[in-house]
Amino acid sequence: MLLRHTPTEILERSALTINPAKTCQPIGAMYAALGIHGCLPHSHGSQGCCSYHRSTLTRHYKEPVMAATSSFTEGSSVFGGQANLLQAIENMFSVYDPQVIAVHTTCLSETIGDDIPQIVDKARADGKIPAGRHVIHANTPSYVGSHVTGFANMAKGIVDYLAGGDDLPKNKQQLNLIPGWVEPADMRELKRLTRLMGFDPITFPDTSDVLDAPQTGKHAFYPKGGVTPAQMARTGASIATIALGPTTAGPAARALENKCNVAAHVLGLPIGLRATDRFIAELRKLNGGFVPPEVLDERGRLLDMITDMHQYFYQKRVALWGDPDQLVALSEFFLDLDMTPAYIVTGTPGKKFLARIAEVLGEQIRATQVRQGPQADMFLLHQWIKNKPVDLLMGNTYGKYIARDENTPFVRHGFPILDRVGHADFPTVGYRGALRLLEMILNIFMDRQDRNAPEESFELVM
Ligand code: SF4
Repeated sequence: MLLRHTPTEILERSALTINPAKTCQPIGAMYAALGIHGCLPHSHGSQGCCSYHRSTLTRHYKEPVMAATSSFTEGSSVFGGQANLLQAIENMFSVYDPQVIAVHTTCLSETIGDDIPQIVDKARADGKIPAGRHVIHANTPSYVGSHVTGFANMAKGIVDYLAGGDDLPKNKQQLNLIPGWVEPADMRELKRLTRLMGFDPITFPDTSDVLDAPQTGKHAFYPKGGVTPAQMARTGASIATIALGPTTAGPAARALENKCNVAAHVLGLPIGLRATDRFIAELRKLNGGFVPPEVLDERGRLLDMITDMHQYFYQKRVALWGDPDQLVALSEFFLDLDMTPAYIVTGTPGKKFLARIAEVLGEQIRATQVRQGPQADMFLLHQWIKNKPVDLLMGNTYGKYIARDENTPFVRHGFPILDRVGHADFPTVGYRGALRLLEMILNIFMDRQDRNAPEESFELVM
């Protein structure tokens, strides 16, 4: 009983977060930066921040994550980090030869007020940036926002610095695809679906083949995946931009619309049946109106599983925590399964989340407790569960303590997952991804039924 001190009595708190349902902004910026080919992320702050960001990503993706740091000392904390960053840019280009350096700030450099664009301009004027190479940046103060905000800021930074090509003739097959914060396998799946729908997508950030790169026996400091600066330079010629996730991908899509006049279509994450339907329908509007049989078959297989196994889902109560775009999509999917999203918490701020959840839940909102913000934490979620239990927990690894104490089935989904494998390798987006989600949920329910069944009702066939 590791959480045995969690009380059932819920007191309103205003200045205390206990086990937050979010993590630090620069982690998201670093993850997004790794979706550029040949990119070396750079943390403008102290070494401790950079170590934390790298280790969290490494533990989730089970891949070594390379990143540099400005290594602030007491001196840079007082006088600013310009000298450190200028030296770092010079060192990185001469030692590690990246195509792109993606600088993100930290709490410390934001508090000092370091002006990154000015420092980058000086680096360029001083000849520290070789021809054809790029230094981009995003501001990621972690005392506001979360890892989700950091991802969104860096995705927008990629557009601000690298997007172009609005003077090129429009290419009807070329589509910009901004997948939001999903796993490398999800990015690969989204590209596959987009290609099946007749497009040649420019996908960014794209961490497939970066954070799930195959073992070849040879170390590649810069794996083969990621969007290239050359691809970004022709995003302006695309027919449209599809952004999946208003929180993570929306700002980049709108920036691209403003910069290169490419229409932004901002959708929810295509997790589950209806959200994937909307993604396919949007592509269908752009491709002249066809959906290939392969995609229809995948949808049919998902529907078949939902109807065949409905009795296992019906009226099961689920607790969800994590990132806004994922929570909205998962809530809708659970409603489609006739399950009840009972509790939803996210530590990520954002004005539209509560309205989006209310829209998705409809009448169900009366039976759902939803909380967002600093006090929407794992402690509150546990208190809710202690007062009225759920049948399923779904979220990142930090739910394992509640799962153990409350003896509740737990499916890991979201970020970070520090204690299991497979999340980076098997998609949960699209129809095939939804099938995988169903498999994980059903198996855990069936395992529980097998474990709890008395001998006279222990069934071979389920
Ligand atoms: S919260 Fe701020 S100080 Fe802490 S690791 Fe993140 S950037 Fe660094």
